Amino acid sequence: MNLTKFPRRNYVQDATPIEALPAFSAALGGKVNIFIKRDDLLPGCAGGNKTRKLDFCIADAMQNGADTIITCGAVQSNHCRLTLSWAVKEGLDCHLVLEERVPGSYKKDGSGNNFLFKLLGVKSTTVVPGGSNMLGEMEKLAENLKKDGKKPYIIPGGASNAIGATGYVACAEEIMQQLFNKNLSIDHMVVPSGSAGTHAGIVVGMYGTNAGIPVSGINVSRKKDVQEEIVHKLVLETAKRIGMRETVPADQITCYDSYVGPGYSIPTDGMTEAVKLLAQTESILLDPVYSGKAMAGLIDLVRSGHFATGSNVLFLHTGGSPALYAYLDTFQ
Ligand SMILES: *Cc1c(COP(=O)(O)O)cnc(C)c1O
Repeated sequence: MNLTKFPRRNYVQDATPIEALPAFSAALGGKVNIFIKRDDLLPGCAGGNKTRKLDFCIADAMQNGADTIITCGAVQSNHCRLTLSWAVKEGLDCHLVLEERVPGSYKKDGSGNNFLFKLLGVKSTTVVPGGSNMLGEMEKLAENLKKDGKKPYIIPGGASNAIGATGYVACAEEIMQQLFNKNLSIDHMVVPSGSAGTHAGIVVGMYGTNAGIPVSGINVSRKKDVQEEIVHKLVLETAKRIGMRETVPADQITCYDSYVGPGYSIPTDGMTEAVKLLAQTESILLDPVYSGKAMAGLIDLVRSGHFATGSNVLFLHTGGSPALYAYLDTFQ
């Protein structure tokens, strides 16, 4: 795969570390060796997976002459924080449309990412009820900004289109090169599966490089069959965009929906256990909405004997720890 033909802003200059988690693995019985890909350490304010996608999406915006970025997300969206962060660095205006998926969850003076929106100087935030037509809301905002002479560009939620997912195709290539350099063989990969760009990009990259590493996605909101279909659709679009000749079969996509709990962003016992255990064994911070639930999934899969004894499992840490500070009560 030759990804150099796609415009990007070079936000990702160096590979993020792949680290062993010996104490965490031991705490889970020691039969499976768990490794972590530290995309929480990517550049951009407070790090996280959206930087890889925005590298390509913001390049596309700038190529289209945009001076303003509009995007959307949940009230504690890491994607909104990182889009704003890169817009600041590029000298672009940034407007956010926030979906209050849990009624009453938007707090004007909220902590976590919500606080960072203001600190980073967001131009405007529009809060809409859960279930709103987010694209429609962003288009409305874009029309108003155009009337003021602005050139807005809309980045979809999570930057999860084929442009953004290309960032995670690149990540899969990066991982394969690192594993070769370390002479480390990975048997299985576990990733969070939300707006699906991360999961889709990794699947395309692993399939396209003939890695032979199965990828499991841990859902954070949707049911298994719905999510698998969304991921596969984006896999096909992304594979087509990067010029892959083969099509990627649907059986390359596996999602687990048992770790969502009552709903998106609502805490679960498995999530709090995962966040505490990784913090207290390896001093790595997960987040309550994505990586915490994804790690709860990995922990359960290890305990239930899903992975063969002695296997090496790589967890993709997608970031999000600023949201922890909006969940202090959950951890007390
Ligand atoms: C957005 C996000 C995810 C999910 O990635 P998608 O590409 O939307 O599926 C996972 N973890 C964190 C911390 C995120 O912010």
